[in-house]
Amino acid sequence: MPKSLSERDQLVNWHPYTQMQTAPAPIGIVRGEGALLFAEDGKEYIDAVSSWWVNIHGHAHPHIAERVAQQLRTLEHVIFAGFTHEPAVELSERLLRLLPANQAKVFYTDNGSTAVEVALKMALQYWHNQGIPKTKIIALEGSYHGDTFGAMSVSERSVFTRPFQQYLFDVEFLPVPVPGKEAEALQRLEEIAGSGEIAAFIFEPLVLGTAGMVMYEPKVLDQILALCHKHQIITIADEVMTGFGRTGKRFAMDYLTQQPDLMCFSKGLTGGTMALGVTTCALPVFNAFLSQDKTQALFHGHSYTANPIACAAALASLDLVEHPDFIRNLERISAAHLAFAGKLDGQPGIKACRQTGTILAVEFEVGETSYFHNLRDQLYHLALDHGVLLRPLGNIIYVLPPYCITAAQLEQVYAVIEQMRLLVVEQ
Ligand code: PLP
Repeated sequence: MPKSLSERDQLVNWHPYTQMQTAPAPIGIVRGEGALLFAEDGKEYIDAVSSWWVNIHGHAHPHIAERVAQQLRTLEHVIFAGFTHEPAVELSERLLRLLPANQAKVFYTDNGSTAVEVALKMALQYWHNQGIPKTKIIALEGSYHGDTFGAMSVSERSVFTRPFQQYLFDVEFLPVPVPGKEAEALQRLEEIAGSGEIAAFIFEPLVLGTAGMVMYEPKVLDQILALCHKHQIITIADEVMTGFGRTGKRFAMDYLTQQPDLMCFSKGLTGGTMALGVTTCALPVFNAFLSQDKTQALFHGHSYTANPIACAAALASLDLVEHPDFIRNLERISAAHLAFAGKLDGQPGIKACRQTGTILAVEFEVGETSYFHNLRDQLYHLALDHGVLLRPLGNIIYVLPPYCITAAQLEQVYAVIEQMRLLVVEQ
């Protein structure tokens, strides 16, 4: 008997964040279309998490597929030092038109973690090039910025970072300024900033994703950024998760009046088609690297930097982001989330419901709330059994759907969450 995709996988692959000894067999997916994934055994799944928050336009979008196919036939790759190409130039031009007005230059990498690594390196070298001894970084408690060493250093110390603790650099963590904690966060920032040693502050604007979709208000972020600017602290907005519509506007930073010095993007950038990341910066950051001394350059790059196919995928994704349907879909999903959260709030088994734009988080009332608590796997499989892909973060379930999800599919996702609530209540 020929083996299934899932069986063949188990012989050769090692999956991320997965205890390979006890994890169930992976589900073999053979096709995607819109919000749906089709499995080799004939089952269908609604991808309610946009496959790790990347497939913002759904799967196998024909417009992106066509643009990528064209690019493949024209130029698939070229070294990005000493050479350039149309997709990278056009993508940077278009991105900069959409981003906060101070963003002036685009640096390409391959994923969210490396976009963050580059931002951290830019911030640290910005001071180094000027001979100013600012070397410390501030992040928010509970943050997640990726799995490479710099990104891990500015992330919450957790099961993700434990074996590498001694190799991570020291970071000051600020309380997340959730309602009621604004004053504490601002006061702590004043204390830390006073040392004059702080090079940069990195943050997930408005929603801390991996922390469990923890949400805070634009107003307090504006105050924090104003304080950073006053103390000459470089600000880094990590929009890897929030970028491209997640929070209900194109970018979370569109809710603010302050502008960040650096921004990081990936995930939705190509609509989940190709691995691509970018770090953008304001002109003063870029200018600090200009010199007759070649050693003051940014010594960072990847073989696939600004891959033309990935840039073409991002350009096609941007066409969809700039289409009027895009905002209409964000509004439609936001309104549906809000109405469902309203129904759920206060019900037995529900500790809290949070919503910002197309992000909905439901926190279940369980005794123990560790990432590995025993209900987590039950909730995950309950959703799969009902044809919905939802990936709980401990006792928190979140919905970040592709923006093409239909009203009927959304209702199906909400119905599964209601089933989850009943399971929690029964326990
Ligand atoms: N930054 C944020 C806010 C993220 O949510 C993530 C991934 O979840 C990353 C960075 C890392 O991105 P990647 O998984 O592409 O390395």
